[in-house]
Amino acid sequence: MRGQWSLLLGPARLCLRLLLLLGYRRRRPPLLRGLVQRWRYGKVCLRSLLYNSFGGSDTAVDAAFEPIYWLVDNVIRWCGVVFVVLVIVLTSSIVAIAYLCVLPLILQTYSVPRLCWHFFYSHWNLILIVFHYYQAITTPPGYPPQGRNDMTTVSICKKCINPKPARTHHCSICNRCVLKMDHHCPWLNNCVGHYNHRYFFSFCFFMTLGCVYCSYGSWDLFREAYAAIETYHQTPPPTFSFRERVTHKSLVYLWFLCSSVALALGALTAWHAVLISRGETSIERHINRKERQRLQAKGRVFRNHYNYGCLDNWKVFLGVDTGRHWLTRVLLPSSHLPHGNGISWDPPPWVTAHSASVMAV
Ligand SMILES: [Zn+2]
Ligand SMILES: [Zn+2]
Repeated sequence: MRGQWSLLLGPARLCLRLLLLLGYRRRRPPLLRGLVQRWRYGKVCLRSLLYNSFGGSDTAVDAAFEPIYWLVDNVIRWCGVVFVVLVIVLTSSIVAIAYLCVLPLILQTYSVPRLCWHFFYSHWNLILIVFHYYQAITTPPGYPPQGRNDMTTVSICKKCINPKPARTHHCSICNRCVLKMDHHCPWLNNCVGHYNHRYFFSFCFFMTLGCVYCSYGSWDLFREAYAAIETYHQTPPPTFSFRERVTHKSLVYLWFLCSSVALALGALTAWHAVLISRGETSIERHINRKERQRLQAKGRVFRNHYNYGCLDNWKVFLGVDTGRHWLTRVLLPSSHLPHGNGISWDPPPWVTAHSASVMAV
């Protein structure tokens, strides 16, 4: 059997060699040869023009989605002012309802100590909301200095063609690099970065606190107002005055708005609190997760060099150096600068050696 196969394979190999030889020596017509050469030359030209050492599937996807990114960036850029006006108008409407509708009602029913407590708490909360919002929208997030050769950088921004220090990222809406960029916030019409990150978080926290206070404190008034509105279409119709009807609707509006904002903003604040506890920004969260998975596949452990431990992360973030600062810098309006310059990231001197060695895993 093996002999029969070898007899058949021998002539087959010979035929194949002859065919290849003929094919190799076959000469193409001059016109076809010219066309093939031009086609090859064109391919080389096109490849050399499109060559990019950073190219890959991510670049191709980015390029395909570029028109959508452009549209979203421009919509957010131009709608920023509208969002800021919306925040101011909605917050002012709640304050106006509290003064014009809620205050006359509680003045008749609440005891003096209870009134005093509400008066001091509500005004303290309102002052902190207004202060932190104003600071968050007016404080620049911090930008890398131009033309300095002495700073430590980790890469070059592909958009600005400028050196980027560690934790710096390019904002496509502001169209510039931002130090320790967290995200671009349309509600602030500003980037959240090194110099205004604390103002942003404090605003979210105190606004959530204020909304919880308003919706919890006005629960009884809301129920009464809602019940009264349901009787509007009864026969005979109830004898509510115009002022009473406006008060009912205002209380329902106040409760629904504050409850919705408390839920949505509360979730956002909780998420940012988790990130701050881990010594990460929103952007670093994604980068670190990918890096953690990459190193895990190689059997190595990822270490976040900006994580000093939960408590020290909060102290660095809030700028708390002494125990007294929890009162003067956190619970009262304070415009102190954050630690560091946003370019080099040495831990503050009071961070203990133990904390400095604690790295996130
Ligand atoms: Zn840039
Ligand atoms: Zn921005």
